[in-house]
Amino acid sequence: MIDTNSKPNIHVDQAIALEDKYGAHNYHPIPVVLKKGKGVFVWDTDGKRYYDFLSAYSAVNQGHCHPKILNALIQQSQELTLTSRAFYNDALGEYEKFACELFGYDKLLPMNTGAEGVETALKLCRKWAYTRKGIAENEAKIIVCEENFHGRTTGIISASTDPEAKEGFGPYLPGYITIPYNDVAALEIALRVPGVAGFLIEPIQGEAGARVPDVGYLKKCSTLCKEANVLFIADEVQTGIGRTGKMLACDHEEVQADILILGKALSGGFLPVSAVLANDEIMLCIKPGQHGSTFGGNPLASRVAIASLEVILEENLIENAYIMGKIFRSGLMDIQSHLIKEVRGKGLLNAMVIPAFGEFTAWDICMDLKENGLLAKPTHGDIIRFAPPLIINEPQIRECIEIIKQTILRFTN
Ligand code: PMP
Repeated sequence: MIDTNSKPNIHVDQAIALEDKYGAHNYHPIPVVLKKGKGVFVWDTDGKRYYDFLSAYSAVNQGHCHPKILNALIQQSQELTLTSRAFYNDALGEYEKFACELFGYDKLLPMNTGAEGVETALKLCRKWAYTRKGIAENEAKIIVCEENFHGRTTGIISASTDPEAKEGFGPYLPGYITIPYNDVAALEIALRVPGVAGFLIEPIQGEAGARVPDVGYLKKCSTLCKEANVLFIADEVQTGIGRTGKMLACDHEEVQADILILGKALSGGFLPVSAVLANDEIMLCIKPGQHGSTFGGNPLASRVAIASLEVILEENLIENAYIMGKIFRSGLMDIQSHLIKEVRGKGLLNAMVIPAFGEFTAWDICMDLKENGLLAKPTHGDIIRFAPPLIINEPQIRECIEIIKQTILRFTN
């Protein structure tokens, strides 16, 4: 039994009131106050247990507080945590080698958050455009997709088509061309625009609600980019590290991105750790002093990242995500309810589309799921994303299908 009482309990209302009074109101959380996590479960302050079907937006693929990653964190934090990149440290090179060999790239540039990883990739692409491709200064353009989500910085939201993420934060960064997602013809046309340097894409759109493109789309995009001498930049911050039943979502179509962005599960949820990977002809376009981060590549993050990737491999979490994902989707598709418009996803990145019905919305279903012991969060009002840790086993996934089924049926009848 997990001891949830190691610290005095703060009352639920009290915890929520504190955040409400002293925290910025930039989120609208499900009203549950979590205190502990272990594997696929989290516990609230009253000791109630829930299946975590958000996994911190896919950062906790290895399960909460994984013992191997925790051990790496403890060991390294007793030795050395941060040096800055003004000096070498004895962990970063080892981590870079491990990740480069695993993902098949010459070099890695370490950052912290996903958004920083994306910003790094955009800068790298621009630098390559000017120093290698010969695009005139300040003329480089990067193609992005409608309904993308790449983070919250001003540079990134400039490429967003979501009014909520974008409006009121201008002026915006120029240099983007926006095309519809999953539309090869649109990419072909956009690639003809003078000055195009890169195509930034989520191989499956995560925040848009697990939107999976047609089979062959990524492969065709990657081929077209190659022909046009344009960098294919894969944002695998959410889809990477086993989430979709392959190490990378691009692996489903054997696509090797020119620039790969990783984040979230690269630390199993312990620290913000992100990375950009590329081969020498691209990565070496950035020279000393031209980019960096105080915390990027710190020894603590490096050891945690190695352990996080090892857990994925040692525990066969990629294969497990693939198999559990199939069982999960077929279980959801078997639910007989007119409320469910669509079930989609790959591996353990899944979503259910539930348009508003009567006075209810997907939010109300998530509130009921919470009562029934499963935490999920709606996105875009009518989509519920289901993304449990990749360590979930078959009896657990079947129990969760049953929880979701009973919840939906109660609203149906
Ligand atoms: N890219 C993608 C595809 C994401 O899903 C996210 C976060 N949801 C980000 C980038 C940004 O990551 P972070 O919140 O760590 O900045």
